[in-house]
Amino acid sequence: MLRIPLLPTLRREVLRTSRGYTTNRIAVDGFTGSVGNTPLIYLKSLSEQTGCKIFGKAEFQNPGGSIKDRAAVGVVRDAEEKGFLKPGGTVVEGTAGNTGIGLAHVCRSKGYKCVIFMPNTQSQEKIDLLRMLGAEVFPVPAVAYENPQNYNHQAREYAKSIPNAIWTDQFDNTANAYAHYISTGPEIWEQTQGEIDGFICSTGTGGTLAGVGKYLKEKSKCKTQTWLADPPGSVLHSYITSGGKLTERKGSSITEGIGQGRITHNLATFVNDITGSIHISDEKSISMVYQLLDTEGLYVGASSALNVVAAVELAQMMGKGSKVVTVLCDGAYRYQSRLFSKKWLKAKGLEEAIPEHLKKYSVL
Ligand code: PMP
Repeated sequence: MLRIPLLPTLRREVLRTSRGYTTNRIAVDGFTGSVGNTPLIYLKSLSEQTGCKIFGKAEFQNPGGSIKDRAAVGVVRDAEEKGFLKPGGTVVEGTAGNTGIGLAHVCRSKGYKCVIFMPNTQSQEKIDLLRMLGAEVFPVPAVAYENPQNYNHQAREYAKSIPNAIWTDQFDNTANAYAHYISTGPEIWEQTQGEIDGFICSTGTGGTLAGVGKYLKEKSKCKTQTWLADPPGSVLHSYITSGGKLTERKGSSITEGIGQGRITHNLATFVNDITGSIHISDEKSISMVYQLLDTEGLYVGASSALNVVAAVELAQMMGKGSKVVTVLCDGAYRYQSRLFSKKWLKAKGLEEAIPEHLKKYSVL
């Protein structure tokens, strides 16, 4: 396994799980080996305010900058193991950006080509980064899943049209949720030493929620509750709270990469085990972006902030002393031209959502 000479003491530091995620300090597997093992951050001020213990898993510390590095490694490894992806092949994916960024890194490190289809509503920072990483990017109109021009269907059809290409299908390929079942879930369980009352997060593909939720449910023997946090414009909150009625998708959100109009295969593996759902407005999410920066020094994106708002609400529902974990999906760098721009906030009608004393941070 190790091709580089290491001192015996260092060699002992190299611990890997059977699936290749590094569990200690030296990643011998380049990009792939350095994904995961993110810290669990105790959110001090929010914990003190609520009398609960609230933690955010620092997924922005992954080498590609987001939680989706785990899924990217998972779907590529699965395709390689099944023999679908061959040397020199092309990986095609439909993504809001973060999975694409993870895939672009994995592809560079393994010599594959990477082609990304994404809705043209996503931030310029993500498109620029994908191109800098050598991916070919097709921004396409943001149309509903039912429309054949949806970015996912375009990715699938494109993969069919070129030789030696695969569509990694992150929404319905359960290798995505499995990546969280074998990495994110066990890490959270170990970091909390099994003392975790609630886990809550938003979903795009459902991979994180399903994979982590399943692992925690099994390990805690159903004691840990798993909740969904959902933004405006998603049908999942009403699906969960109505006992399984799927409504038409309406509205939109400033959050990127989360919210969903259907039950993806990844989510379907766990949807009946979700304890409940909390709907979070854009006003609360944007305000928390600024609050986390001001009080915790954390510069995170809007989905992370939404998750933290939801974690606070869940902890308050569960009562004093409860221990709740969520995920900090990525950094704000990916959205700063929007989230920290006065003009953009005004156009979205969110200027007043930011508390007066925090307005000094919108400097763009
Ligand atoms: N937050 C961000 C910023 C994302 O890009 C995504 C993935 N699209 C998620 C959260 C949701 O993760 P998952 O796909 O595992 O549900």
